[in-house]
Amino acid sequence: MKDRGKDCGGFVNSRQLLYDISELNHLFRESASIETLLSRAVEMVARSTQSPVCSIYLYNPDRQELTLRATQGLNPESVGRVHLKLGEGLTGLALQEMRPICEPDISRNPNNKFFPGIFEERYNAFLAVPIARGLSKMGVLVLQREASQCYNESDITALETVASQLANIIENAQFLLAMHEPAPVAAAAVPDSIRFVRGKVASEGFAYGPTMALDRHKGLAVVLRQDFGKTYALDDFHRAVAYTERQLEQLQEQVEDKLSDAASLIFAAHLMVLKDQDFLGKITRRIESGVNAPVAVAQVAADYMQSFLAASSAYLREKANDIEDLAVRLVTNLLSPGEQADIHKDHVIIARGLFPSDLLKLSSEGAAAIVLVGGGVTSHVAILARSLGVPMVIMDAFELLRVPDGTPVLVDAEVGNVFVDPDDHVLERFQAQRNARLTLDDQKRLMQPVTQTADGTRVHLMANINLLGDLRLACALPCDGIGLYRTEFPFIIRTTFPTEAEQYVIYRKLVTAMAGKPVTFRTLDAGGDKILSYYHDIEEQNPAMGMRSIRFSLQNKAVFAEQIRAILRAGFDADLHIMFPMISSLDEFHEAADVVREALDQLRHQGLEHHAQPKLGMMVELPSAVDLIDDFAQEADFFSIGTNDLIQFLLAVDRTNESVADFYLPHHPAVLRTLNRIVQAALRHQRGLSLCGDMAHQTRYIPFLLGIGVRAFSVDTIYLRRTQQAIAATSIPAAAVLARSLLAQSRIRDIEALLPSRTPPD
Ligand code: PEP
Ligand code: MG
Repeated sequence: MKDRGKDCGGFVNSRQLLYDISELNHLFRESASIETLLSRAVEMVARSTQSPVCSIYLYNPDRQELTLRATQGLNPESVGRVHLKLGEGLTGLALQEMRPICEPDISRNPNNKFFPGIFEERYNAFLAVPIARGLSKMGVLVLQREASQCYNESDITALETVASQLANIIENAQFLLAMHEPAPVAAAAVPDSIRFVRGKVASEGFAYGPTMALDRHKGLAVVLRQDFGKTYALDDFHRAVAYTERQLEQLQEQVEDKLSDAASLIFAAHLMVLKDQDFLGKITRRIESGVNAPVAVAQVAADYMQSFLAASSAYLREKANDIEDLAVRLVTNLLSPGEQADIHKDHVIIARGLFPSDLLKLSSEGAAAIVLVGGGVTSHVAILARSLGVPMVIMDAFELLRVPDGTPVLVDAEVGNVFVDPDDHVLERFQAQRNARLTLDDQKRLMQPVTQTADGTRVHLMANINLLGDLRLACALPCDGIGLYRTEFPFIIRTTFPTEAEQYVIYRKLVTAMAGKPVTFRTLDAGGDKILSYYHDIEEQNPAMGMRSIRFSLQNKAVFAEQIRAILRAGFDADLHIMFPMISSLDEFHEAADVVREALDQLRHQGLEHHAQPKLGMMVELPSAVDLIDDFAQEADFFSIGTNDLIQFLLAVDRTNESVADFYLPHHPAVLRTLNRIVQAALRHQRGLSLCGDMAHQTRYIPFLLGIGVRAFSVDTIYLRRTQQAIAATSIPAAAVLARSLLAQSRIRDIEALLPSRTPPD
């Protein structure tokens, strides 16, 4: 319930006020300082509301504290000095409860808190409105005047509109605010409630190391909080630029092995900015005018970030991160040349949201593990983390963001546990588990050259490839080919569409490494949670059901055709399978197949070496495809079941949403029966069939899948051994009996009672 005021006041000119506030956006883009911005805002609001006092308090979620940032009418010296805890005083209460508070006379309200020396005692009529973006608290806008002129309902409504405009502006300016924040006092103690947190495994592994919050827009602030001790001049700056350039080039070379399809791109943007004459020139001029070099770097970087963040394109907004990363590196090299500039090395990174490009950078800098908190999770960031071998857990525990940097944390991403400042006992157990981890040699030793069930039925065990780095395991371990190559990763991590030639180079490496074994290229599955930042400009309400996957490819035929040509050329001597994702109708399948046929014609005419008869197949991951499965079997050479999406669309459960994860049930009766339908159709029509979603490596489901007739599994390479072991432990007759009884159940809990229990990961 809102605390609506009695009718005794009223804004004189609220339309003009809204216009003025929207003008602040321009002011901000013209790179005014944040202080100027906020002072102008309070001035305008005070004038338009005929209030002698208008103040803006901004909220720091890490400290759960509001700070007075600008005021018209109160003692100007109190700016930056008045702090309120969430819920403290009427201002703190307005934010805590996220509602306006309107009081005719605060001197009578026991919740009120007067601060001595800010001279507010005589302004007893009070109106506070929270400034927020969605659920995220940003601050409070407060008006005060004499008790005889209290605020009314229309004042509240107008001030709420102003506050929401301000929220936009403040969000853009947040990195600037972070730079102005005072250094943290002593590291706060870790609250007991977050000593142990349980989440979901995204990428397996263990790590123990100091934490570091990846809080965008604070990196520069952290660097600038140091005491520089001296003035750095132009020479120092030039030295730092040269050093940084060498360092970035070296870093690129180092990661080449691990990430040959992406390495050269990770630091490309940084190097580009570092060579940009405009960027360097602006810093140089500031240093020449007497600004200390690290401050000059930070100021110019902040200006750039500011204009990038104001851009409407998501791609440009993401560029602000590159600028910030580069500025932090540059300042670090300026202050301590030769020292480790990879501030994330061996750290457990606690992040609120993560772009694939962040993950690539963190991995190449040697981050020990990632704890991803709250929203912003995309399943493809998890897939990428697995391919990079970075342990990652995903959890809803926002309080982890308050753990002071440097606190030792143990991440057990085998089961999804995070221990904050663990005791010796926990550490010993961790060490023992770590020692028991299998090396590549162990895995080789434990695997059979051929995968078969306990009763000798041959099963094909194939690999899912996300990055070329996955080929190391796929080639070293027994594996019958590639059942799914997710071609979108080279697209996701670039800054523009990769050319046909670039794709050819990547695809050729894959084909060569597989030396004649089947290779399945899934065509671009962009969109949904696999955003191409340089293309997906318009935010979709429902990206999983938006312009994605085969729809995207068919709408961008030139991009699609280039990819098909690159695949056909690179796979000229391969056992080549081309697979279309997210097919929902025969019409889509035909249209996609036509693009392949046209590419084949073109290549023939051009006399370019290519594969003339690739097998054409499709992912079965939409309910509509299941209904049409017999018709598809007349057209497609093979099917691969994508359980990740199929479950999401059958059950209407977002696969990326942690809060509904308990509803994402591979063993839901509708899912089991749907899988059976697909498999029986493929068997009836003698079409190739494999299963490439995560269910393929979840060992408790393997007996069921074998029981309904699945004979080909494609799994991420880290799961090859585990999956082979589960297949070898199953005999087909027993699996068929189990499958029949599972299919006869219509309740989830009856199915759970029959399923093998969850096996602990090994
Ligand atoms: C799937 O949906 O099961 C699948 C394998 O594709 P992706 O996870 O890449 O969407
Ligand atoms: Mg899918």
